[in-house]
Amino acid sequence: MSAAILVVEDEPAIQELVAFTCSTHGYSVVRADSVSAAQQAVKSELPDLVILDWMLPDRGGIDFLRELRTHERTRQLPVIMLTAKSAETDRVAGLDAGADDYVVKPFSPRELMSRVRAVFRRRAPEHAGEPLSYGPLTIDPARHEVLVDGKPVKMGLAEFKLLRYLLSHPERVLSRPQLLDSVWGDHVFIEERTVDVHVLRLRKALSQANAQSLIQTVRGLGYRLSSRADS
Ligand code: CA
Repeated sequence: MSAAILVVEDEPAIQELVAFTCSTHGYSVVRADSVSAAQQAVKSELPDLVILDWMLPDRGGIDFLRELRTHERTRQLPVIMLTAKSAETDRVAGLDAGADDYVVKPFSPRELMSRVRAVFRRRAPEHAGEPLSYGPLTIDPARHEVLVDGKPVKMGLAEFKLLRYLLSHPERVLSRPQLLDSVWGDHVFIEERTVDVHVLRLRKALSQANAQSLIQTVRGLGYRLSSRADS
């Protein structure tokens, strides 16, 4: 349910601080103390965000960042660089290599979490932990609640995650593979038809409040959350 953050940091005290901060804010945490350990972690399960130290024992964090940006599977992965380097050229290098943000050491846990939330808000709003709304629909992820016109609607966990993802990308056509990844993770092998089953259940749940037509089928492409009738 909670978003997974991969913490790549070789200094034990800082790794502990970052991991502890993230987990107390409800994120699940995977730790790595080198680029090779981080590669393994990403290979076995794609995290939702990476906090990446600049200086690591085997290779530079920025090398790993460039590598992530090269591969289709990890190209969009949000990355926050952790760096002792505050020189402007280093920051520019990090951002040029595709970092979404950077935090300069020493940093406060509060600052770090506000950066994490800002990056999630921009790149993956379904993980920002904040309410999402579209038309009559509102999701409160913290309370695990779906409201239609202010009234609660009950649904299963998979339907909840599906709706959360659709709500964070309103008016956009989302393919079955995208929806699968968002709900079940990218390493789980589930047939694409499963998405159709859960969309049916989601529509059924929303029909309690007469809001089922917001989930539109876009033939041959996937699904879209929209109140427009032009699909
Ligand atoms: Ca380091």
